Amino acid sequence: VAHDFNQITFLNVVNKSKVVMAVSRLAVVCGGSRGIGGAVSRLLAQKGCRVAVVSRNEDTARDTVASLHGDDHVAFSCDVSREDEVQKTFTCIQKTCGNISYLVNAAGINRDALLFRTKREDMLELLHTNVLGTMLTCRAALRTMLHTEGAAIVNIGSVVGLKGNVGQSVYSASKSALEGFTRSLAKEVSSRGVSVNLVAPGFIHTAMTASLREEDGVGSVPLRRFGEPEDVASAVLFLLESSYVTGQVLVVDGGLQLAM
Ligand code: NDP
Repeated sequence: VAHDFNQITFLNVVNKSKVVMAVSRLAVVCGGSRGIGGAVSRLLAQKGCRVAVVSRNEDTARDTVASLHGDDHVAFSCDVSREDEVQKTFTCIQKTCGNISYLVNAAGINRDALLFRTKREDMLELLHTNVLGTMLTCRAALRTMLHTEGAAIVNIGSVVGLKGNVGQSVYSASKSALEGFTRSLAKEVSSRGVSVNLVAPGFIHTAMTASLREEDGVGSVPLRRFGEPEDVASAVLFLLESSYVTGQVLVVDGGLQLAM
């Protein structure tokens, strides 16, 4: 059964027929206000999930929620690198919306520069957002996910975390860390039926890549185009709905990795 819905079956005693009620699943998308996370929020809403969009900027999160299919979605302002904010936000999500079925960690930043030009503060901000943030949200969400059937986590890594890149040593380290984190967490929670996977995108059209000249990068992409956020969202959905895939890295890069 695809996990679009939790199906609850009741026996109607009077006419002895089965009545199936569909209860929408709750999906929390961190970094869900725009870019890749925005596309994930839209796709999950289209598939019938109730979506909690989490990002620092409350207005953007609210605008995204207002644009989603359906009207039961909620926006939360939260900096995922702050333990107190994550705790508060997830407690509030659980109290107001119930148990979490899906968690997608798409909140991330880059600070591209050669290592010797990278300030310690930038290293820390990046590691705190990309790595610590993912750890904190997973820990907070798992409190209820461990008790939810078919629960699934997808973290967003990067092809750069697998292959490395000039000017992205700190970013690459953060994404490699997520690979180890994802595989280890998958082992930790597999006995409770929770899957944890990583999607590793290549060049995707978002604010993060807005300063890149596509003509400079596209030559190294075998499929000859940058990806769209929706290309990544469909891979995320596949992993969330898969009942027998865990601890895996799914590369969504138009073949870029083959050429790196
Ligand atoms: P965008 O900059 O378009 O979106 C980033 C999202 O993360 C926004 O919703 C932003 O909202 C949120 N965010 C950033 N920092 C925080 C924080 N501390 N707390 C909560 N939310 C935060 O980036 P992309 O969509 O391109 O990137 C999404 C993920 O995909 C990132 O992890 C990135 O590293 C990864 N990725 C992107 C690639 C690309 O080519 N675009 C390639 C490979 C990986 P707000 O600013 O309001 O907080």
